[in-house]
Amino acid sequence: MKAFINPEKCIGCGACIAECPAQAIIMLPGWRSEVQAVKCSGCGHCVEICHKKAPVLCGGEIMLDHG
Ligand code: SF4
Ligand code: SF4
Repeated sequence: MKAFINPEKCIGCGACIAECPAQAIIMLPGWRSEVQAVKCSGCGHCVEICHKKAPVLCGGEIMLDHG
């Protein structure tokens, strides 16, 4: 499982960057964060912390959203 951040939902608050234990999330110009998939452990903390519901976990055909 890897996290993916929906750029249309992310407001660039940076909360997920502070919470990511793998330091896998970077801030892009324009205040949008992005997961560096090679570093992501799939722990899901970013999905839990984001109040904009921007990150989702993806793996194969499985996609978990906040529900
Ligand atoms: S916590 Fe959510 S809104 Fe904030 S930077 Fe991360 S993905 Fe974007
Ligand atoms: S799933 Fe975990 S390791 Fe991957 S970007 Fe989110 S907080 Fe970081």
